Amino acid sequence: MGSTEERYVQEAFDSNWIAPLGPNVNEFENTIARYVGEKTHVAALSSGTAAIHLALELLGVSKGDEVLCQSFTFSASANPILYLGATPVFIDSEKDTWNLSPELLEEAIVDRLSKGKKPKAIVAVHLYGMPYKTNEIARISKAYDIPVVEDSAEALGSSYESAKCGTFGDIGIFSFNGNKIITTSGGGALLSSNAKYKEKAVFLATQARDDAPHYQHSNVGYNYRLSNVLAGIGRGQMEVLDDRVSARRANFDFYYKELSEFDKIQFLLEPRGYFCNRWLTCILTPSFQAREKIRLALLEENIESRPLWKPMHLQPVFTENLNFLDGTSEDLFNRGLCLPSGSNLSSNDLERVVSVIKNEI
Ligand SMILES: *Cc1c(COP(=O)(O)O)cnc(C)c1O
Repeated sequence: MGSTEERYVQEAFDSNWIAPLGPNVNEFENTIARYVGEKTHVAALSSGTAAIHLALELLGVSKGDEVLCQSFTFSASANPILYLGATPVFIDSEKDTWNLSPELLEEAIVDRLSKGKKPKAIVAVHLYGMPYKTNEIARISKAYDIPVVEDSAEALGSSYESAKCGTFGDIGIFSFNGNKIITTSGGGALLSSNAKYKEKAVFLATQARDDAPHYQHSNVGYNYRLSNVLAGIGRGQMEVLDDRVSARRANFDFYYKELSEFDKIQFLLEPRGYFCNRWLTCILTPSFQAREKIRLALLEENIESRPLWKPMHLQPVFTENLNFLDGTSEDLFNRGLCLPSGSNLSSNDLERVVSVIKNEI
């Protein structure tokens, strides 16, 4: 936490706005909008998963539809597709950003069109804060007229060519879960340049109540709005977001300085024009065995590290799903490791991590 979160939470108590609406919710939304660009309309929600669910529904995804989804991601990118009775089709990553492969995406679209099944949406993810190939994905989206849900859960503070992540898709989403770069303990946001999407998202997130003196419902709604208490934490957190990005990037710079001289350790570098918040610093080792050797040596020292996200097409829950693959994400999963990356790591902590790794390579 920074220094002002408690003050905003206290304001919620003092004004008795202990509800999923109120001044903190409005101001949190305004602050996010100012951060990513004034033309963006923001709806604060109870989680990033809820935001993806509403985004897909707003784009018309419903029962029987197919949605193209980046395979290399956290399961929350894909699960909401199933909440709507639709089916995810998983697409592999490319090597420059580890995100959605434009080639495989286009191949998948052409294939599905030839079978008479036009995909309803594309879920693209800025994994580990690295922006996906925004120009290529936008070109394909436009060419085939398929909208993009931009999963920016891990990429608040990242940008491409000075445009902030969260603003590239038809609808973008953020997460403020406890593990993200800033947090409200649990929370999320849906954003769009289209004011109608925000309005409709807030309507659906507050039980889809029609304008009537009694309780009247013409749509199925959800209880997905963010608490005014938690939005107070969010307001304080937005004030330290840039500091958190600097701290995470300093972690990356330290690991890179200490380890990049070893051929056996590779880092994901920012292509020209890309700015990554370095939510997590990840390394690639030569093999699964080499990765495990480092992970277990760290664990021995009571230092937690984790393999990269296991791709969705390899998850037991998605074994039956169609996919378009070239082996990239499976290889990343086998050889990759997320290093300790918290915003509050001391230089002593970082040196400990690096010395264990140096011993194992
Ligand atoms: C965290 C995360 C989500 C889900 O956000 P919650 O707020 O935890 O529901 C979705 N996608 C990705 C890539 C994430 O990392």
